[in-house]
Amino acid sequence: MLVSQILKLKADDGVVTIAPEANVAEAANLLSARRIGSVVVSSDGKTAQGILSERDIVREIGKRGPGCLEDKVSDMMTRNLVTCSCNDRADEVLSLMTNGRFRHMPVLESGQMVGLITIGDVVKARLSELAMEKDALEGMIMGY
Ligand code: AMP
Repeated sequence: MLVSQILKLKADDGVVTIAPEANVAEAANLLSARRIGSVVVSSDGKTAQGILSERDIVREIGKRGPGCLEDKVSDMMTRNLVTCSCNDRADEVLSLMTNGRFRHMPVLESGQMVGLITIGDVVKARLSELAMEKDALEGMIMGY
């Protein structure tokens, strides 16, 4: 299965982004309002400059207290973004996420964001693929 197939299975409501100069409280507000776990940091909504996850915010609150909510998003975001493209294989993306211990991956084509997949999207797609394979194998064995 390819990343493009996983994107097709998702509701196409775009990638949620926030400007790098926004503060962390605004990012937390956005995560809560949209019921998501991370937001891509982008000045133009298309180029990914970094990612800020609920984990980054919780970690900093734990270390420094709620004052960190006043920080700029660009000061707290992860800059070394791991991304994938539509033609990447889902199992390779799943390995990257598992080994890197993150759950979100922006999908880029020619440097522009075309979607974002989560580890949950990949696992869900893989489970439905396995269920179809099982049905096909059962059909072959039972002769129908
Ligand atoms: P997550 O599990 O995705 O909520 O994120 C866990 C940590 O990995 C946080 O520090 C994120 O900023 C970082 N992170 C999330 N997604 C990515 C990604 N695609 N590439 C690099 N780091 C990421």
